[in-house]
Amino acid sequence: MTRFAAPSILLRMTALAGFAAVTLLGASHAFAAACQPPAAFPKWLQNFKQQAVAQGISPQTANYALDGITYDPVTVAKDRGQAVFAQSFLQFSGRMVSGNRLQGGAALLKRHAATFKRIEQEYGVPGPVLVAFWGLETDFGKIMGNMESIRSLATLSFDCRRPEKFTAELLDALRVIQRGDLSPHEMRGPAHGEVGQFQFQPSTYYNYAVDFDGDGRRDLIRSTPDSLASAANYLKSIGWQGGQPWLEQVRVPADLPWDQADVTIKRPRLFWAKHGVTYLNGQPLPNDAMPVSLVLPMGRSGPAFLTYQNFDVYTEWNNSLVYCLTAAYYASRLAGGPPLAKGNGPVSALSLAELKELQQQLAKQGFDVGKIDGVIGAASREAIRTMQVKYGLPADAYPTAELLRRLRTGR
Ligand code: CA
Repeated sequence: MTRFAAPSILLRMTALAGFAAVTLLGASHAFAAACQPPAAFPKWLQNFKQQAVAQGISPQTANYALDGITYDPVTVAKDRGQAVFAQSFLQFSGRMVSGNRLQGGAALLKRHAATFKRIEQEYGVPGPVLVAFWGLETDFGKIMGNMESIRSLATLSFDCRRPEKFTAELLDALRVIQRGDLSPHEMRGPAHGEVGQFQFQPSTYYNYAVDFDGDGRRDLIRSTPDSLASAANYLKSIGWQGGQPWLEQVRVPADLPWDQADVTIKRPRLFWAKHGVTYLNGQPLPNDAMPVSLVLPMGRSGPAFLTYQNFDVYTEWNNSLVYCLTAAYYASRLAGGPPLAKGNGPVSALSLAELKELQQQLAKQGFDVGKIDGVIGAASREAIRTMQVKYGLPADAYPTAELLRRLRTGR
């Protein structure tokens, strides 16, 4: 899960993303100087210990977890070189929802069937939804990252970028240790302190981890039942509704009010039914008031999805729409849903350089698209839509070569 990332749809590298060779970008500042002199770290650590004890951490736990911890330049370099999620939905889902992961996921659903059944009864979250997150986060617990979490968190708490956020996480990591769930040396992960088979941040671990195998510890590293039930508990707590859909593939007609197709816009299902959106097999959508979004990750010619209220839980889990759609689609496959259907025409994605140029052009038009980084977040989508309307193009907010050409020439 990823909630430390800067704005919009940045995806910080998870352990698995690195393993899957997700394109790394924006690494040019990877070795930028630390913004706090590392020599000041020991003094900071002493102060933090006192702060931790004042917050209810026992001196024993504080010493046990923090003694001998040193500043970690690798953590800071990784934080500065925060990766940008630069793959399109078709690239990422094609890579992540492969035959292997479908078969592996199906085998795990079978092997842990009794656990999944008990979890769904208690939390309402179906096994396929959990298995899809499990596969995307750590390849089912195989790749969890190997940096010392306490050291990473202490370094990022000391660093000047987001000290409040990471200080809170470090305190929660100490609470997890104090509770007896994990020892400090067991806590390892990627560079931002995430831990375990679902890469929980310490605050999520502390607040939502459950002991589901009954051994008295919440062990999200070695216990599969604890890991799965904790993920389900977290999903339920952020709004998952049992027995409700999360995502369905649909077919869209050649003409639609494209400007209403966005993950941030919910419409009654009958709105899309009336406009000719159907299921893949041509069956009509129900004419009901169930709120849904029409999401077109590759524009109006690419694959089309209805996302339901349960999909909001995905966007809470990770702030990359490509990640969320991939996890939700993967879950739908594991639940017996159909393979990805092509859309109505060929789709192509702009290169990173072109995406940046597009953002520059939009900024020149007076839009605030945030950082020119090639990441098309909500602000860029809105700007694209406005210009599409202006040029008389279908306003699906998808960046195309045609739009870039019109922006360059101004007509
Ligand atoms: Ca346990």
